[in-house]
Amino acid sequence: MGNVGAKEIPELFGPDGLRTDGRRPDELRPLKITAGPLHQADGSAFVEWGFNKVMAAVYGPREVHPRHLQENNKAIVQCRYNMAAFSVDERKRPGLDRRSQEISKVIAEAFESVIFAEEYPRTSVDVYIEVLQANAGTRCAGVVAASVALADAGIPMVDLLPAVAVGKVGGKLVLDLNKLEDNFGEADLPMALVPQSGRLVLMQMEGHMHRDELGRALDMGVAGCRGIYEKMKAALRDRYAVAPAASSEVSA
Ligand code: UDP
Repeated sequence: MGNVGAKEIPELFGPDGLRTDGRRPDELRPLKITAGPLHQADGSAFVEWGFNKVMAAVYGPREVHPRHLQENNKAIVQCRYNMAAFSVDERKRPGLDRRSQEISKVIAEAFESVIFAEEYPRTSVDVYIEVLQANAGTRCAGVVAASVALADAGIPMVDLLPAVAVGKVGGKLVLDLNKLEDNFGEADLPMALVPQSGRLVLMQMEGHMHRDELGRALDMGVAGCRGIYEKMKAALRDRYAVAPAASSEVSA
């Protein structure tokens, strides 16, 4: 244990340079994506990422509620990110707090920039993100789940939207912070990438890092997003893979 100010900081790297969960600095937590688990929604996805468990459901394009939000020349994207009361160690008060509202807003804006909204004027694409278990990185897990759910719903988009956080922990840059690293790190930089163009459509930073580190952090995050992108595509392929046709030969 180190002691900086009043905060007891646990060792975040072993003597081998590996992190508390055994990962290298540029390694993602295990990620499993299931496309289309919900039958009532137009599109859905379930993401298990480290100890995070996040469900996303998409409805639309459909009629806008409340009506006054309707736009005559394009669809709007409405997003609700919610953490279940039982998703964290200390029971979270149910309902949309300021944090959830902020996350909902930045995620809606990220998707507005990739959905071909002009194709569906006067409609709404509604994205629901439910965090069932949280262990840092839930907004990124939410973006990944929602993106696969939007594709599952057949909403036309420029591209899928992989997302991941890069952090600075004990003076080192690390990919995909776990909860301990999030609690005791110096910086947390979640981002979402449009892989085809390299455009970042969500980026937030908490804490501080040097501008040289920021460049390296972005490179690390973009590389992480590219790995996540492959898993997102694989989840959709699994969902829509057509089973090979049974042999038409009938033995006499
Ligand atoms: N967290 C919590 N209670 C809250 C909000 C967050 O316990 O009301 C935890 C949760 O594990 C979350 C982590 O703190 O994943 C980091 O939260 P942050 O706001 O950085 O968002 P995230 O990293 O989940 O996108």
